Amino acid sequence: MKLTYPHMGEAYIAAKAMFDDLGIESIIPPFSTQSTLRLGAKESPESVCLPFKIMLGNYVRSIEEGADTIVITGSCGPCRFGYYGPLQKLILEDMGYDVDMIILDPPREGINKFFQNIKKLSGGESHKSFKVFLSAYKVCEQIDKLNEIQYFVRPRAKDKAKINSIMHRFRSQVLYAKGSKEISDLIEKTMDQLLTLDIDMEMKPIKIGIIGEIYTIIDPFSNLNAEDRLGDMGAEVHRSMTVRDWAENNLIKPLKREKPYKLEKELSKPYLPVLIGGHTQQCIGHAVNYARSGYDGLIQIYPMSCMPEIVSRSILPQIEKDYGIPILYLIVDEQTGEAGYQTRLEAFYDYVENRRRRQSSSKQAQST
Ligand code: SF4
Repeated sequence: MKLTYPHMGEAYIAAKAMFDDLGIESIIPPFSTQSTLRLGAKESPESVCLPFKIMLGNYVRSIEEGADTIVITGSCGPCRFGYYGPLQKLILEDMGYDVDMIILDPPREGINKFFQNIKKLSGGESHKSFKVFLSAYKVCEQIDKLNEIQYFVRPRAKDKAKINSIMHRFRSQVLYAKGSKEISDLIEKTMDQLLTLDIDMEMKPIKIGIIGEIYTIIDPFSNLNAEDRLGDMGAEVHRSMTVRDWAENNLIKPLKREKPYKLEKELSKPYLPVLIGGHTQQCIGHAVNYARSGYDGLIQIYPMSCMPEIVSRSILPQIEKDYGIPILYLIVDEQTGEAGYQTRLEAFYDYVENRRRRQSSSKQAQST
């Protein structure tokens, strides 16, 4: 069995750690590019959302490199994600690829089926797979820390090229690291390198929270590296959802019989008291949380035709009004042009920065 899985930001690092520890050969698809997206878009229904197209392109690239089994997570929620796996399998069959597809539905949607799939993946040793899963989860926690360091260092770093070179080296080396131990050590080493960079500790960058559809905010290819672009302009960003956060809420909490996304659901209640699919309640909850925590602006990113995030988009202007926080709305698909995207980010950055400067000078004037 040669496994593969689609790209979604740094998820491939935790997946690699897990399959290496289980002794299963896995093929990481080549990093997504415009040609991966073109390939996926050509074979996908035209109006389906962007992640579907990128993922399909990833599968084909991995199959070309010898993969025969695809592992993806599933869902029964009221949005298209529930039919990604079955529909992608049919498309691959039409394209002449005979591959097995293991869809890992979260435990809350059938605990027996979840464990059957885990057993299938671990060759019957489900107790071993649980230990391995915990090590992979630790890797996800470290990746979050690594990102938090980047969010802090990037706007303040005197030489931003050094961050790019450290991160570039990390992404190349992690492909050759074997198992969770080597991967963890490499992440630690990379964090240390970032922390030794020369930074301006006096700087007080504007703070921008990134909210929206989970795939497009986590996956840098699909959001055209929004985090790095904003950091390079001088903003400290924070992303509301991560792979660790997804695993915690969808895998760990249901097993412990705890309610997932408690805070986000609580905060979104006045605007959206019911689950409507995707991560709409989380998006609204995060927006409120960022606004209450003193963030200067928010950016919502979502794919064209994403049903849950269109609903968030219609609610967020009310949060803008209630909390006086500016929000930029970015829709991405295969037609998204880099120049227009960059211009919108720069304009938003300038607007938020000027706004904060004006607010602090008027506060100073009032106090004198
Ligand atoms: S949340 Fe949006 S983008 Fe993601 S699968 Fe559902 S409809 Fe598609």
